[in-house]
Order: sequence, then structure tokens, then C-alpha cells
Amino acid sequence: MALYKIIDSHHHLWTLDHKDWYPWLTADLVPLYRDYTLADYVQEISFLQDSADVVGSVLVQASPSEEEIDLMVRIADNSKGIVRGVVGWVNMLDTHSCIRTIDHWMKHLSSCRILDQQPRSLLVGLRPMLQDLPDDEWMLRHISPALISHMVDIDICFDALIKPSHLTHLKAFVGKYPLLKIVIDHAAKPTIMGMHPLSDHELANTQWAKDMKWLASNSNVLCKISGLFTEIHKATIPPMYKDDIQYQTNLIKPYIKFLIEIFTCKRLMWGSDWPVLEVAGIKPSMWIQCCIQIFNELGKSIEDQQQIFYHNAIRFYKL
Ligand SMILES: [Zn+2]
Repeated sequence: MALYKIIDSHHHLWTLDHKDWYPWLTADLVPLYRDYTLADYVQEISFLQDSADVVGSVLVQASPSEEEIDLMVRIADNSKGIVRGVVGWVNMLDTHSCIRTIDHWMKHLSSCRILDQQPRSLLVGLRPMLQDLPDDEWMLRHISPALISHMVDIDICFDALIKPSHLTHLKAFVGKYPLLKIVIDHAAKPTIMGMHPLSDHELANTQWAKDMKWLASNSNVLCKISGLFTEIHKATIPPMYKDDIQYQTNLIKPYIKFLIEIFTCKRLMWGSDWPVLEVAGIKPSMWIQCCIQIFNELGKSIEDQQQIFYHNAIRFYKL
């Protein structure tokens, strides 16, 4: 049996026959401009089965369209229990239609959801594409309190797809909605410079760290350990280390150490962010190994690591 049991809290799937759903997916985006199907995903996660077994996943929206939820739920329904939850996009500018859409999907029950053996809704969260919107304060200006209280009532989560410039607004959002379950995707995408790993002191003094520390002090806020290789500023890596995974793992390590300090192992979730992590030239199996190495170097027990790799996603998304 594999040593690690893993829920991948964050991956995507798309096919080019729905290319118009993904305005950001342009032909120059090699290697993303191709089909990424569930079969491809299953193949990717099968590489590590001796040491780590990905037993389930959360499929996250990549399109600002409600049609994509329909497709994602169908994929999950037919995934033999691999995709245990779906985080979808709804048009939050129209609260009433948005609540209708959510309620429609909450009534769609699936036997893929295994908690207490009862069929449950596959829709576990919502994600507006905040990082792509021109207004960093969009979440405060345009998401209605009525929608948030509906999300709280039916217990679905808010995935915050943000960059560091949004953190100050996310703090106000968290202050306004202390009951909403929020997860910060990709640790809010800090820019990781490539010259040398930051010292604890250097990192703690960044605005990103100060904002994340405040956010982590709120028990309704979690964070995904995902997407960090993609945030390494490649042009700043010394040429001899450009393809050196160990060098890049060392750049990421202070960030993961800091996230564990502020969120503890109880409020972090591992995610592959496949296939986007392919942009950084790595595979889910390599990313799992890098994280295991970092967790071990930080002295984290297998039990603590299993919180991050498995239990927290199950608890947060009620998988
Ligand atoms: Zn992603």
C-alpha cells in the first residue's frame, strides 16, 4: 500500500472543441493549448502509486461560463469516484440567477461523493476569476451579501483566485464574511525570485507575508499549496540552474515553511494545478515528491503531511 494517500484539491480539464469557453487559452500557450481529458489526468496521477496514491480530486473551473459546470459535473459523474467535487463559475453579477444555478446543482446528487455513503451534490465551491478582472476590489463591489449568505447556508466554499495585489481587498472581504469558507488558491501567487532562496527574515518582511499572516489568523480561511513552481520568476534563475528541480525546490521551500507556520498543517491543502504546472516544466508526480521532500526536511510527521495531502480537503470540501 502507498505510504501517502492524496486528494488533489485543484486541477483542471479542458478540450479545444470548447475553445471559446476559455478566452485566456491562446495558441501561443504551449503546452496548454491542447486537450486535457480525465483519461490524461488519470495517467498523470498513476505514476507514483508505490509511494503516493491520488485517490480523489477536486475539478476546478477554467472558464467564466456556467456551461462548464454542466460538463464538469458530467465528467465527475462518470469518473468512477476520482473527481469527488467540482468548483464552478457562476455569474455573480446577477445574484438571483446565480442562486438559481447553485440550487439546481445542489439538487443533482451523485454516488461519487463518499462521505457517510450518502449521495451528495458534486458542486462544492464557487470561483470567480478574480485575477483576470480589471478591478482588484471586484469581490467587495460586486458580490452581494445575499449570495454569500446563501453560500454559507448551503455550506459551499469560495475559492479565491488572486494575486498579491488582491490580498488587501481579500482581508476586507474576510472581515465582512467571517462565516464563509474561503480557500486561497496557489497561496495568492507570490512572485518567487530565482537568485537565491529567501531567508525566513526576508520572506516575513514582504507585504505578501504580512497579508497572508493576517488572513491565516482567521479560522475560516485555508490555503492551497499549489502552483508555486509556476510562480518562480524564470528569468532571474542563474542559467546553470534553469532546469535544476532541486534548486527550484529550494526556492519554494521558505514559502511552504512560512505557510505551515501561519496556517498550521490543519488548514493547508495540496493541489497539483495540473495541467497549468506543465508550464513550469514539471509533472504532478514531481510536485508531490518536492512537497514530500520539503515536509520531511521541515520535520513534519506523516500524520501532519496527511492532513495537507488528504484530510483537510476532505473536511473543507466535504468530499
Ligand atoms: Zn489552477
